[in-house]
Amino acid sequence: MKYVSTRGGIAPVGFTEGVLMGLADDGGLLVPDHLPQLSSDTLERWRGLSYQDLTLELFSLFTGDEIPRSELKAMINESYATFRHPEVTPVRRLSDDLYLLELFHGPTFAFKDVALQLLGNVYSYISQQTGSIIHILGATSGDTGASAIAGVRGKPGVRICILYPEGRVSKVQELQMTTIADENVLNLAIDGTFDDAQRIIKELFGDVAFKQRYHLRAINSINIVRILAQITYYFYAYFRVTEQQGSAKIAFSVPTGNFGDLFAGYLAGRMGLPIERLILATNENDILVRFVQEGEYRPAAFRGTYSPSMDIQVASNFERYLYYLYGEDVGKVSGLMTEFRAQGFLNVPSADQERVRADFEAHSVQNDACLDTIRQTYQDTGYLLDPHTACAVAAAGAQGTEAGVTIALATAHPAKFNEAILLAGLEQSFPPEIGALFNLPQRQQLSPATSEAIAGRLREFFGAATDAAQLREELLLGERNRVSG
Ligand SMILES: *Cc1c(COP(=O)(O)O)cnc(C)c1O
Repeated sequence: MKYVSTRGGIAPVGFTEGVLMGLADDGGLLVPDHLPQLSSDTLERWRGLSYQDLTLELFSLFTGDEIPRSELKAMINESYATFRHPEVTPVRRLSDDLYLLELFHGPTFAFKDVALQLLGNVYSYISQQTGSIIHILGATSGDTGASAIAGVRGKPGVRICILYPEGRVSKVQELQMTTIADENVLNLAIDGTFDDAQRIIKELFGDVAFKQRYHLRAINSINIVRILAQITYYFYAYFRVTEQQGSAKIAFSVPTGNFGDLFAGYLAGRMGLPIERLILATNENDILVRFVQEGEYRPAAFRGTYSPSMDIQVASNFERYLYYLYGEDVGKVSGLMTEFRAQGFLNVPSADQERVRADFEAHSVQNDACLDTIRQTYQDTGYLLDPHTACAVAAAGAQGTEAGVTIALATAHPAKFNEAILLAGLEQSFPPEIGALFNLPQRQQLSPATSEAIAGRLREFFGAATDAAQLREELLLGERNRVSG
């Protein structure tokens, strides 16, 4: 399997190179050069597989011969051994026509763990294969940073530095980042906003000498591994629900921000999973809903909501969808993206809008409706939804129920967003893992919000680590730790 850019400006690259490249060098996004097609016979054969084995079958289609199967299997098993549920992503029946796919049983209680636990191990593997240390630099407004740190903490050959805006992430998110004591993790709380953090990252990645000296890698949702790892649970949930519901038509309702999660479902469909409908659920930040309904992709004013992980204006994976919408026509995609950069919005002609509406149904859920859904679902079923999942459930309800079953993706545990739960007039007890965070010492370092200040900290942190002897030592130590337990 090779990977190409949505803008057509790079020679095809293999899996490893694609992972390391992150954003394609021509500014586009990487996509597989073809999508494997799965027959209904294959699906029936895979029905009985565990989550891990299903991931192995699907993921190996995309790694090709670059990772030996036994190594990949070990990596996948290690990645999902950190989950608290034996099924990794279990489904739960809420009513005859509504199921939840619980994606929050990983270390940080949000769905991003599903992909980032695996990406952490992929990075570590690549480090060993290439004999170089991988330095990850990212900015977070909450979930991604905690999850990325959990994915690489203690892993030989990988260092991670996460910037976050001081005092502007939730307490639980801050604790999940700052209570990690592993030497390969550096958290920097910057004296500024999330936008400042992102600007600094852009500047540092833009400094070619700095980037190359330290082999900087990104962890944001444009990395192709994150999408590929998320395909599995659409298949897994489909198998579990059709076991109970026979040949029912299956829709998925997906809380959507950067469009990574929903896009994985879209790929699952294109690979042959019989998905009846994909519902794009979001909050008051409704750029994608307006796109599906009106054909115009135009950022609007930022709205603060109860589901902050979906408070985004520009969906970073959107370009990948345009690529498929236009039949892999890279010229068309480049043209649209140039238009978007020049005028700040883009339009698709009405003939193409029909196809968009055939691919997705879209709903924007208002703040009040989100809290109402949390309250109502709790009253009706005793199940406490987090505010992101509540948007998916509300959107599923808005579709009516024409004799089918909807699987709503539950992307976070409600304990991560207790503020919204309290506003809904409900109380919860925290899982012990989250409660315990409050008693751990925090390792918090403050920094001014300038790229000079951050570059200085990175030089210290990454410093000696670029040398090969250091890497060998780490790998040996990692090996010893594995053997001893
Ligand atoms: C990141 C996130 C989302 C949005 O996922 P995308 O892939 O960005 O669309 C939804 N819910 C939660 C809890 C998240 O952390």
